[in-house]
Amino acid sequence: MECDVLVIGCGPAGLSAAGYAARAGYSVIAIDALAPGGQLLYIDEIENYPGVSSTSGFALAESFEKQAVSFGVSIEFMKAESIRKEGDAFIVTAGGDEIKSKAVIFASGARHRHLGCQGEEEYQGKGVSYCATCDGPFFKGRKIAVVGGGDTALTDALYLSKLGSEVHIIHRRGEFRGQKVLQDRVMAKENIFLHMNATVQSINGDGKGVKSVTLSDGSELDVNAVFIFVGVIPNSEMLEGFAELDKGFVVTDGHMRTSVPGLFAAGDVRTTPFRQVVTAAGDGAEAAHSADEYIQNL
Ligand SMILES: Cc1cc2nc3c(=O)[nH]c(=O)nc-3n(C[C@H](O)[C@H](O)[C@H](O)COP(=O)(O)OP(=O)(O)OC[C@H]3O[C@@H](n4cnc5c(N)ncnc54)[C@H](O)[C@@H]3O)c2cc1C
Repeated sequence: MECDVLVIGCGPAGLSAAGYAARAGYSVIAIDALAPGGQLLYIDEIENYPGVSSTSGFALAESFEKQAVSFGVSIEFMKAESIRKEGDAFIVTAGGDEIKSKAVIFASGARHRHLGCQGEEEYQGKGVSYCATCDGPFFKGRKIAVVGGGDTALTDALYLSKLGSEVHIIHRRGEFRGQKVLQDRVMAKENIFLHMNATVQSINGDGKGVKSVTLSDGSELDVNAVFIFVGVIPNSEMLEGFAELDKGFVVTDGHMRTSVPGLFAAGDVRTTPFRQVVTAAGDGAEAAHSADEYIQNL
């Protein structure tokens, strides 16, 4: 197979990039290991994508896919396995095939590290969340648990303390890893309570929503939501040794250019402080624009 622009990953970043590149007149193949939509497919309700009133992640994914296809994008279901450059051409191996392209937009996303405790999977989308901006507003005035002790956990605990009646931070160590300034702010909040040297044994509920968590000392904490911030894992393994990575995230400039000319990265997989559908879609548009500039100068 051959195309001008190969997009790896069909989440919001990849489908946005693919649509913009196809609309600019390029032949575009977009591949995905699973299904178009990426993490959108795990979102029960999304209410913060600009211009779209509350909708399901599935419906938004369908609309991203339909629009990209209407611009001429060819979507294929295959997992990209390796990438190399031969002269100016990129060769990506996927599903036993080789795809040759002038530019590659890498939009393979990231996955949240899970606790692996009982109830975590069952209550995902029913109180268990990995994103405070996304789901915090659904728990206004309720009791919230935050698991983790790094910058994200502390920042998001502070954000959630403005929404929830109580925020309980559960951290497995005796000290936080997050910045001192964040620790000071957390300590100063009257409705934030700390549970140090504690882990979550189970997340309990009534089938419809979370009711409590059981901690490692056997105590039970009544909460309606559990926000888990114990790390994000970028899906960037195939770029190791090929492009510059920082803790696995693809290093880009503001134009989504990576350390390899002609390779662009967009969305959750790249070094960025904020991971949302709108930022991923914005990155995708920028990456397609940069790919256009790059191809014109070949
Ligand atoms: C439960 C949940 C709720 C969320 N709620 C919200 C919300 O309310 N609002 C909001 O703005 N954001 C929300 N987010 C975050 C948002 O979904 C992500 O920021 C966004 O989807 C990132 O888009 P992306 O395209 O970068 O990556 P992803 O959506 O992760 O898509 C990446 C795609 O790449 C594919 N892929 C990976 N590796 C390969 C490979 N080697 N070859 C081929 N394909 C590959 C994957 O299968 C996937 O389809 C939520 C996320 C989750 C998990």
